[in-house]
Amino acid sequence: MGIFSKGEFTEKDWNHLLDRALPDAKQEMAKSPYDSELGFNMAKDARRVINGSLSLEDFHKKYSSSLVKEFGKEYVSETPPRRTGKGPQWAMVIDLRKCVGCDTCTVSCKAENRTPPGMSYNIVLETEVGQYPNVARINLPRPCMQCEKPPCAQVCPTRATYKLDNGIVVIDNDRCIGCRYCMVACPYGARSFDFGKSYEDEMIGFNDVTSPEYGVDRGERKKGKLPEGTVRKCSFCYHRLQRGEEPACVETCIGDARYFGDLNDPNSKVSKLAASPRAFRLKEDLGTGPSVIYLK
Ligand code: SF4
Ligand code: SF4
Repeated sequence: MGIFSKGEFTEKDWNHLLDRALPDAKQEMAKSPYDSELGFNMAKDARRVINGSLSLEDFHKKYSSSLVKEFGKEYVSETPPRRTGKGPQWAMVIDLRKCVGCDTCTVSCKAENRTPPGMSYNIVLETEVGQYPNVARINLPRPCMQCEKPPCAQVCPTRATYKLDNGIVVIDNDRCIGCRYCMVACPYGARSFDFGKSYEDEMIGFNDVTSPEYGVDRGERKKGKLPEGTVRKCSFCYHRLQRGEEPACVETCIGDARYFGDLNDPNSKVSKLAASPRAFRLKEDLGTGPSVIYLK
């Protein structure tokens, strides 16, 4: 028998590893003050809009009266403008053969984005494969995929979640009402709710430093102050991009497994890697079009 190679792990296996780690949608929605059934149904139909089996018009027709009833004046009916496609399309390539599973990206992301206890924008899923003595440890880093067609944005009743022209999906915390419909719509488990927990007891001064959500300086963390009570997620460190820096996870990756750049530039490293026969995207069949590309 030959030595087990990480390349033998198929796309189906990677998707399975992700699915096993997804949060329980029913439990997530149980904590929402809004209609759970409406959230689940919209999440299901948002995926149909994305795969083309339901038109956007029919989606709006089906849900607009329920949304008005449930969310009143918070409901925003207009569809956000489509991307023009001009400028960069930020993307990340992660080489799964180079990832050593050290979790440095998870730690640097937490430090950079000041996420509270129980919340990580970037996790690394791990499993062991093969049979002794031919075994390997498999690691799957999972940030937000910054989907080209994000179901999270499709279901958001307040349009707090939307896509920027550079491909990044952001949340306007001032508009987010914490309904969590986006959390059950996301097929990648990339969103978390900020319950207002703090590390202040373990780390004096934790609340003093700002959480740089989507380029907005929120100032020190206080009870009842945003982003507490809203949904949060990875934004490819949008605040760092605005300063011309790479996302924290890319800069600190021990295995040099992460690449970041503009997919619209055919000469960029990410464009070249995305064309590799090793390249794939998670749950490609859904049609969400992730901007995170993996190399198997
Ligand atoms: S971003 Fe906020 S308002 Fe929009 S779906 Fe998510 S929780 Fe609801
Ligand atoms: S991975 Fe989830 S949260 Fe991120 S853009 Fe896609 S659907 Fe939205």
